[in-house]
Amino acid sequence: MKTLFSPAQLDDAQLRSSEKILRSCVHCGFCTATCPTYLLEGDELDSPRGRIYLIKDMLEGGKPATAEVVKHIDRCLSCLSCMTTCPSGVHYMHLVDHARAHIESTYTRPWHQRLMRALLAQILPYRERFRVALAAAFLVRPLRAAFGTLPYIGASLRSMLSLAPAQFPSKPIPEPAPILTQPSGKRVVILEGCAQPVLRPSINAAARRLLARHGIEVVSVASEGCCGALVHHMGREADALNFARANVDTWISELDRGLEAILVTTSGCGTTVKDYGFMLREDPAYAQKAERVSQATRDISEYVASLPPLPNVHETGQIVAYHAACSLQHGQKVTDAPKRLLKAAGFQLRDVPEAHICCGSAGVYNILQPDFAQRLGARKVAHIERTKPQIIAAGNIGCMTQIAQGTNLPILHTIELLDWASGGPKPAELL
Ligand code: SF4
Ligand code: SF4
Repeated sequence: MKTLFSPAQLDDAQLRSSEKILRSCVHCGFCTATCPTYLLEGDELDSPRGRIYLIKDMLEGGKPATAEVVKHIDRCLSCLSCMTTCPSGVHYMHLVDHARAHIESTYTRPWHQRLMRALLAQILPYRERFRVALAAAFLVRPLRAAFGTLPYIGASLRSMLSLAPAQFPSKPIPEPAPILTQPSGKRVVILEGCAQPVLRPSINAAARRLLARHGIEVVSVASEGCCGALVHHMGREADALNFARANVDTWISELDRGLEAILVTTSGCGTTVKDYGFMLREDPAYAQKAERVSQATRDISEYVASLPPLPNVHETGQIVAYHAACSLQHGQKVTDAPKRLLKAAGFQLRDVPEAHICCGSAGVYNILQPDFAQRLGARKVAHIERTKPQIIAAGNIGCMTQIAQGTNLPILHTIELLDWASGGPKPAELL
């Protein structure tokens, strides 16, 4: 694609990067076929190619974002399906991240959008604030239909309350670290994150037990925080970079002490941590350290697949529909490892039709774009249920929460199933 940025514009590192991405697009349109919002709307402006044109026009002209641009960029899930499809290697993720930051700095949203976004940015990345908010949501959940009728923020509020768990989110009693049967000398950290340990603490507990069976020590790092993905996807670049710097500071000292890997059990977070090197590339104090952190980061399924297999202890055999989270399949290109591990653990895998299409979760998308998210969620659940599974497996808490709204089937993290098969407790959802 021909671009017309001035030499002065190209002095800016971010514009230089985006210009390179824009030039790599040959506007063939292959990406439109696999874009969830184009599938829903059939509107070119809700396709990757249409958004690329909108972003090009906005950045090239040095223009503030318009309401029209904001509408179509906000509707993008950042699912990155277009990146898997694109034959020209267009790095849409970095381009849309730039566009979101540009929108945040040049466009004044209506008050209700600002309020909702500020609330999400101030609550979700902080574990204890999120726990309190979930407890409040649990209490008022029965009134969600009434909240849904409020002007402006009703749909988002109803969606937020629907996502709240049906049980009171009490603080879990910390489990003692599992005993390593045969210590291998390997040490890793598991990103605790912000939302997942509140919504489903059993996921990281299962990961710890499984790693202990492999003889791998999980190091606790108290000072680590949110990965920054939630605010990053809202265009709050400064906040996202601050979260990234704090985590880099925490993990780099562990890497210096011989840590083998930083493991992530929420693939949405993993995609962002693997991108820290790019996000902090212009920060001389952090560029190298951030790149080292990104290089050491693995999705839990990716890491476990690199270890020798464990013997199966429990009889499994259940039919499992594996839901491939977009952040895992498109963002990190981890596609086979979870399926291979589940099969080896004795589960009968079912392929979900249209597996490349997003379930509509996408971070806080299901709160900010409830209509699109509900349509995609219903489409995903219908495809999953058509395979007649007994269990749904996924590697991302956002997808698990989104899909749970539309089905009564038990949804488990891949690692919870692998832990059970190799000797862990039966997941509570299956009891
Ligand atoms: S498939 Fe790639 S090159 Fe073709 S229009 Fe989409 S982004 Fe551009
Ligand atoms: S990231 Fe997903 S929703 Fe956004 S343009 Fe690409 S395919 Fe479409």
